[in-house]
Amino acid sequence: DDSWLTLPNPHGVPVELCAGPDVPIESAAVDELLTVLETEATLRTLAAATPGLEVEPRIDRVVCTPDFHKGAGIPIGTVLRTVGALVPQAVGNDINCGMRVEATSLTVEQVRPHLDRLEQHLRHLFFEGGRRIGLTPAHRAGLLREGLPGLLGAGVPAGARGAWAQVSAADLDGAGLHAAAHPAASAEGFRDWITSGSDTGGGSGGTSYDSIIGSVGGGNHFAELQYVSRVHDGAAAYAWGLAPGRVVTMVHTGSLSLGHQANATGQDQAKALWPKGVPAPRNRILPMLLDEAGAARREKYLTAFANAANFAIGNRFFLALMMRAGLAAVAGDVDARLVYESPHNLLWPADDGTVVHRKGATPAGAPDAAAPFGEPVIVPGSMGAPSHLLRGLGNARALHSACHGAGRSVPRGSAARGSDAELDAFLEEFRVVTPLNHRDPAVAGRRDIIEAWRRDLKQEAPWAYKEVGAVVQSLEGAGVAMPVVELRPLLTVKG
Ligand code: 5GP
Ligand code: MN
Ligand code: MN
Repeated sequence: DDSWLTLPNPHGVPVELCAGPDVPIESAAVDELLTVLETEATLRTLAAATPGLEVEPRIDRVVCTPDFHKGAGIPIGTVLRTVGALVPQAVGNDINCGMRVEATSLTVEQVRPHLDRLEQHLRHLFFEGGRRIGLTPAHRAGLLREGLPGLLGAGVPAGARGAWAQVSAADLDGAGLHAAAHPAASAEGFRDWITSGSDTGGGSGGTSYDSIIGSVGGGNHFAELQYVSRVHDGAAAYAWGLAPGRVVTMVHTGSLSLGHQANATGQDQAKALWPKGVPAPRNRILPMLLDEAGAARREKYLTAFANAANFAIGNRFFLALMMRAGLAAVAGDVDARLVYESPHNLLWPADDGTVVHRKGATPAGAPDAAAPFGEPVIVPGSMGAPSHLLRGLGNARALHSACHGAGRSVPRGSAARGSDAELDAFLEEFRVVTPLNHRDPAVAGRRDIIEAWRRDLKQEAPWAYKEVGAVVQSLEGAGVAMPVVELRPLLTVKG
């Protein structure tokens, strides 16, 4: 049907692009993908240089999601399933970048009158030293080893203020959600991170663990307050706590510098495992065979990888807590429940020797006991455009995967489209929370944004992204996921 395109290639790898007729596909991304497929030849070379392999390593299947676009080396929106090998570069640099969505107990009518004060409060919390996240060494180790269960298992610090004060019993319930996706990892590779940082937090100076957790990250990351503006599937929406007008927090961030460290570990280990005398592949993608001989080095990488992945979950959790703290300060008591925590840069090794790598793609599993309506799929649009929640159908052709956003239509770093006047007009209409040149609200207007942020915002405004409606339609048309609710932004905190 017209939601799927098959991509012929000289390597004979099954490759399909999922995109409806109204979604543009960047030809540079297709070229990049064809280069990635040369890894099939790399795997044959590696196998020939490695006697005694039990399985023939190969690329089993590749799927590209509707937000497919050029990335650094491997396109964003690529799902790669391998057999007998893993490909660290097919995950993306920001390990476990992902989305967290929470439904709050507030309605848009309760929040709208307070947006000015909320904006000021969030600016203080996110950018003016208001963060105050105190982590003990036990919290740090617990988080890196086990993710949220480890973090919360170390307890809420007595007299906790700031973000911690928003932790509730419900957070402990939802904490185990990703235990399966991120197996317990030893904290070995990250001893330095665990022991650095002051126990009282504070976030000033240095690059200690405490000073980076709870930061949003670069321009494409965000913490956004939204409300349910349309319901497509009442039963699923009800089950997820999403009535019309319900205020929702959506957080997008990853593992910050920990992911980069883990990737560096991966590159080092892959190079060390590379057979002597075999030239490095032209596409510079270095896979690791899943053989016995490489087990120890692979484990080093996977440990660092899991530590970074777990950190990302903690980072998203704290950003969501900061949004709750901001809401509580202006609108009184607020409860929040997790709708979903969804990774889009991750690998999933299976017992059968296959590995699913998602780089800028998100799982979209079928209904099961844990998710009776299907796995929640989070598809953000852009700041100033609607975002969508869908329910996964578990489509095997799509490798149980969906897109993780609208996807860029203008490459980042290319001459930023949009004039200063256009950006100012946009900022009049939408509330974007960033650091300002002046802290005195009497002096500072919303246009008084620090120049570096203005440059970033031009690259992140709606004009830089594909139209999310068409993207969501292709997921539906391809039988990947069904729309549940549309969310409209109230304000966006941009890192
Ligand atoms: P990534 O940067 O992880 O590749 O993509 C994240 C997706 O988030 C983008 O494709 C885009 O659709 C979306 N996005 C980027 N910035 C914002 C924002 O500020 N708010 C919302 N709701 N979505 C955004
Ligand atoms: Mn991301
Ligand atoms: Mn990221």
